Amino acid sequence: MAIRRILIANRGEIALRIHRAAHEMGIETVAVHSTADADAMHVRLADHAVCIGPPSATDSYLNVAAIISAAEVTDADAIHPGYGFLSENAKFAEIVEAHDIAWIGPKPEHIRTMGDKVEAKRTAGKLGLPLVPGSDGAVETFDEARKVAAECGYPVLAKAASGGGGRGMKVIQHEGELESQISQAKAEAKAAFGDDTIYIEKYLGNPRHIEFQVFGDGKGNAIHLGERDCSLQRRHQKVLEEAPSPVISAEERERMGMICANAMADMGYRGAGTIEFLWEDGEFYFIEMNTRLQVEHPVTEAITGVDLVREQIRIADGKPLSVKQEELVFSGHAIECRINAEDAFTFAPSPGKITYYHPAGGMHVRVDSGLYAGYSIPPYYDSMIAKLIVYGRNREGCIMRLRRALEEMVVEGVKTSIPLHQELLKQDDVLHGDYSIKWLEEWLAERNA
Ligand code: ADP
Repeated sequence: MAIRRILIANRGEIALRIHRAAHEMGIETVAVHSTADADAMHVRLADHAVCIGPPSATDSYLNVAAIISAAEVTDADAIHPGYGFLSENAKFAEIVEAHDIAWIGPKPEHIRTMGDKVEAKRTAGKLGLPLVPGSDGAVETFDEARKVAAECGYPVLAKAASGGGGRGMKVIQHEGELESQISQAKAEAKAAFGDDTIYIEKYLGNPRHIEFQVFGDGKGNAIHLGERDCSLQRRHQKVLEEAPSPVISAEERERMGMICANAMADMGYRGAGTIEFLWEDGEFYFIEMNTRLQVEHPVTEAITGVDLVREQIRIADGKPLSVKQEELVFSGHAIECRINAEDAFTFAPSPGKITYYHPAGGMHVRVDSGLYAGYSIPPYYDSMIAKLIVYGRNREGCIMRLRRALEEMVVEGVKTSIPLHQELLKQDDVLHGDYSIKWLEEWLAERNA
């Protein structure tokens, strides 16, 4: 039932990324877009384009009926959701499959399980992944919470079962503030997700964020493609990602990677996934699993040579994984800088018209972006406008090349985060890979003081 035509239910650089993989496989693409994106690069390059609604994402990129109709009208036989929008919506995945359209993503039941953080943690525990100590599932009463917190030791974290984007999460420093913090976490979770179920976890003081890329064929075979270190974050948003992590040895990669791959094989997981851990003092603690392609997937592609989107499409087409674990070689180092249309240091959004654009180039430099001179960045969506991904034989060489590439890259007409990356790549801690998830915010607070 070979896939012939893929509808890309997304926008921006990731829509372009998917289009490229599809065309390299001889597969046609259908772009869907809001009225605000009629001039977007992915719409220009796709073989077919369908306008699915007004600018607001709710009425366009999240509009299930419009997207399914677009697939029917254009005779698309597969849908790739990208990241964000409907990518982790199990109901949407079910609807797609019910229309006999191939879903380029995990099985809906796995999306659902991993989307509920309590359920995800329970499943991860059963599959042998190391967990953050905490409550066994949801916490119903203050008494129960007090008991768990005492067992873990303060500080602890109250987290929303339906959480996402760091919302519905409150640190509890000591027993005195337990009731007020839990009440606040519940209120926030109720408002944001319509579900005030919370659970309790030990609060790690200074961890790194390290995640493993996994792939399953849905038939019990799975591989891992090593880790990415995404510890440089602001407000839980990743700013710069690298692979491999500066603190993980080859033995540790092999050990944890195989734990992850075996877990996915046991589950019968299908497609791409990312298992996210906090890492502190040499220990991994599972926090969540993302059942989709990640923004930062190119750093993994750079050090493994595997095209992850191509792999996703192959699996959705019922083909086996194209690489075996023992054939995978991790070589060199890659770093990705997320370039946003915003002030580099105040982070104030800066949408508008691009008057001049010159992407960086040269050996081992990749720019994933839908930008072009004359393009107007619409104010309705995410502020990320480009990803600069640079590869080097080692971390030092990668950083030297990345600095050179950042010097070359010109985006005029809007403010961008390029100056932030340039300054970051001069900091000793960054050069030494010596940073936790707290580092960036602390550095910014000091710098902007
Ligand atoms: P979300 O789905 O809201 O992003 P996560 O569980 O992925 O929630 O956590 C988001 C971020 O919150 C993590 O990347 C980390 O920075 C922080 N965090 C989560 N759990 C803990 C913990 N137990 N201790 C310390 N920090 C945590």
